[in-house]
Amino acid sequence: MKICINIFWFKKDLRILDNEALLKAIKENNKLLMIFSYHELLKDNHYSDRHYNFINESLQDLNLYLKKFQTRIHFFDDNIISIIKKLKRKFDIEKVFSHTETGLEKSYKRDLKFKEYCNKNTIKWIEEINNGVFRGLKNRKNWISNWNNFMKKKIEVINPKIDDFIELNKNTFKEKKIKIISKSKFQRGGTTNALKYLDSFLESRINKYQNNISKPELSRFNCSRLSPYISWGNISTRYVWQRAKEQLSHGKSKFQVNGFTSRLRWQAHFIQKFEMESKMQFRSVNKGYRKLEKKVNKKFIKAWEKGETGYPLVDACMNCLVETGYLNFRMRAMIVSFLTHHLWQPWQEGVIFLANNFLDFEPGIHYSQFQMQAGETGINMIRIYNPTKNAKEHDSEGVFIKKWIPKLKEIPTPLIFEPWKLSEIDQETFNCKIGEDYPKPIVDISSTYKHAASQLWTIKNDPKVKLESKRILSKHTNSNRTAFDR
Ligand SMILES: Cc1cc2nc3c(=O)[nH]c(=O)nc-3n(C[C@H](O)[C@H](O)[C@H](O)COP(=O)(O)OP(=O)(O)OC[C@H]3O[C@@H](n4cnc5c(N)ncnc54)[C@H](O)[C@@H]3O)c2cc1C
Repeated sequence: MKICINIFWFKKDLRILDNEALLKAIKENNKLLMIFSYHELLKDNHYSDRHYNFINESLQDLNLYLKKFQTRIHFFDDNIISIIKKLKRKFDIEKVFSHTETGLEKSYKRDLKFKEYCNKNTIKWIEEINNGVFRGLKNRKNWISNWNNFMKKKIEVINPKIDDFIELNKNTFKEKKIKIISKSKFQRGGTTNALKYLDSFLESRINKYQNNISKPELSRFNCSRLSPYISWGNISTRYVWQRAKEQLSHGKSKFQVNGFTSRLRWQAHFIQKFEMESKMQFRSVNKGYRKLEKKVNKKFIKAWEKGETGYPLVDACMNCLVETGYLNFRMRAMIVSFLTHHLWQPWQEGVIFLANNFLDFEPGIHYSQFQMQAGETGINMIRIYNPTKNAKEHDSEGVFIKKWIPKLKEIPTPLIFEPWKLSEIDQETFNCKIGEDYPKPIVDISSTYKHAASQLWTIKNDPKVKLESKRILSKHTNSNRTAFDR
């Protein structure tokens, strides 16, 4: 006779700590088999090797922890339905536990199919809410108080026993072997690392959080750097939020702590927006912007991707991102503005490249922010960033630029911010021939600024854009306007 088991399906919740779905699953009588499927990830062009490696590191970290319970997470290449079908040959499966996932269209369609499969096969699929993003909402009435209540809920510690789990015999099923790049240049995955980042942030790095959040170099130290851990679920935002709020009673500055916890709310806000309007993966959330005419220029896009625009801060950001997988918020906004305003390219032309390179790629935040920074929501301020002004303000000594564009390292400030203005003699003195060692600017930002501003302000007054703006405000904000959409 087949034994009756339950399944825990790990998705973007690669943690044990504050994993509500797992907590529920362990309380059941049936033994629990834990699985992870690579199927969609490996086939989707938003993801790249840096993501697989981070996931693999996270899974390895979990399996190391699970050793003491004589079990492990089983990895498969197949899609979820095929995995369950194969497992059903050996076991009776009563329930599957997981967290809801607000993902790309592919994962949404996968989940619909899986739901149908479970219904037909009398398997109960139990999904828990992840990070305060709710399913099936029609508007945001009560959203903030529900999110706050979710954050404040006491975290129940999971205390499993060896007997709670079942492990597959290694030769029974074809499992995926995972490889980890040992010399990875990126932040390393896993809850163990997430906790190290959180501890060091709350202990001291937070003291200058708000002061350095916009600076490309110092933000790398004074921001939490928790984003990949939150995106892949190595740590829950609730755990982070509770630990951060505790700091207030230890004398930490309200300004710093609350500035940080408000960003945790933005995390859920943007994912909630995507949950309720998933078509924004393909078109601007404000349908009125379909009228905006932008001609694709492959040369511009290549120059932007390769950090060869001739604008030092833009190029330094692109080089840094490709090498390290991280940029702070303001620099992300600036490179998107450069692509969509100064180069006048459709946001769709940059969205995959950045998704591939952001180690923390999170569809709901990424698509919402991309369109917001491109100025295509109709409800936000139009911000056309001047990369030279931003360099002078946020990298005033040129430290970040010199680090990521070594060809410019001998040029003193303030000349480094506008290298195209160097005289022939200066170019020789500083060992940097403009047009050879470092490119001339590919556009003139004073004229591209005027063009983008006039186009964006004109379309913002278009009746369809205005109508859509009203719809967006009533669907995605609490009342007329909230502080999130910044
Ligand atoms: C075009 C663009 C694309 C972006 N794509 C992503 C993405 O794919 N994944 C992602 O996690 N963030 C994205 N962001 C938001 C933000 O830039 C990063 O979350 C932040 O820089 C991560 O650094 P940190 O963890 O040190 O942040 P901290 O400042 O320490 O903030 C703590 C956490 O709050 C959340 N958070 C912070 N800022 C924002 C924000 N503006 N919107 C929503 N959540 C926020 C993140 O989970 C972050 O880890 C994007 C921003 C822009 C402008």
